[in-house]
Amino acid sequence: MGTTFPSRIRFFTSLLGSHILSGAVIEPRALNELLPDWQALPGHPMTQLATSSRMLFLTQQHALPIPHPPQMGNDGNYILSLSAFTRWLASIAENEYGVEIYPGFAGAQLFYSPEEDSYDPWGNKTRSIQGVVTNEVGLTRDFRLKSSFEPGMAFRSKATLLAEGAHGSLSKMAIARYQLRKEAQPQTYAIGLKEVWRVDPEKYRAGEVIHTLGWPLDKSTYGGGWVYHMDGGLVSLGLVIALDYKNPYLSPYREFQVRLSYSLSPSFPELLECIAHETSSIL
Ligand SMILES: Cc1cc2nc3c(=O)[nH]c(=O)nc-3n(C[C@H](O)[C@H](O)[C@H](O)COP(=O)(O)OP(=O)(O)OC[C@H]3O[C@@H](n4cnc5c(N)ncnc54)[C@H](O)[C@@H]3O)c2cc1C
Repeated sequence: MGTTFPSRIRFFTSLLGSHILSGAVIEPRALNELLPDWQALPGHPMTQLATSSRMLFLTQQHALPIPHPPQMGNDGNYILSLSAFTRWLASIAENEYGVEIYPGFAGAQLFYSPEEDSYDPWGNKTRSIQGVVTNEVGLTRDFRLKSSFEPGMAFRSKATLLAEGAHGSLSKMAIARYQLRKEAQPQTYAIGLKEVWRVDPEKYRAGEVIHTLGWPLDKSTYGGGWVYHMDGGLVSLGLVIALDYKNPYLSPYREFQVRLSYSLSPSFPELLECIAHETSSIL
């Protein structure tokens, strides 16, 4: 393994891997740099290379092939369970590099230096971040202390990396304190819905990647879908819809279910059993 980590890296996470659903296509470039010999490591979940990649424009009745943008090529990419990947990576970080991971603990507050010892990007003197404070546990719904109450713990660190995904609560605090969005374009968001299905083995084509535009979204709604044939007879299906849609009656979940009905088309496999579902926001 080629990477050396500082010995006391700590990660705070609500759950390890279980909040991250299977069915993603990933480009392994970052992994190749981080763990150059990952293919030799036991239990890695990169077992399904993308074998073909195409784009379709959907109408209600048809699936029309359209040119594949080169930047969306999938040569050398893997279709995998992101949840299994997260768990595998976590076990390597803990066992090989002594990284401490605290599943079940969320970072609840930023821990600031007591004095103004730094500058924000605009030249204003400010307090630097020196770590995080975890959430309190053992509170009732109306915030009374239970016998199991434990206060949040403050962890100090030389460097604090916030990796909370879209719209993280600590990130929002840091953005506000250091005015990180000043003079920046407004952030845009989308919602992504994804399901993993066991499909009819006769229509399962291991490694096939399909991206779709069009139906069920109308032409003023930005978004698109996918069908990834993962390992083990499973298929990931999903739809992403930008959250600036104009129609206030549009229900992303309903659109996704309509989209799933397209599985009746010859281009799509017959869905037999839903294994998992996830909805998540995207920056
Ligand atoms: C439906 C969908 C399909 C996608 N498909 C693909 C794909 O095929 N290929 C691809 O490359 N990308 C895909 N993406 C994008 C990819 O999932 C994201 O880019 C990636 O997950 C971002 O990683 P992240 O670590 O920044 O954030 P996340 O994966 O969101 O992870 C952030 C984690 O931090 C935790 N967290 C947040 N706040 C706190 C806190 N205060 N304390 C402790 N923990 C906290 C969250 O629970 C979460 O586990 C997809 C996204 C969606 C929604």
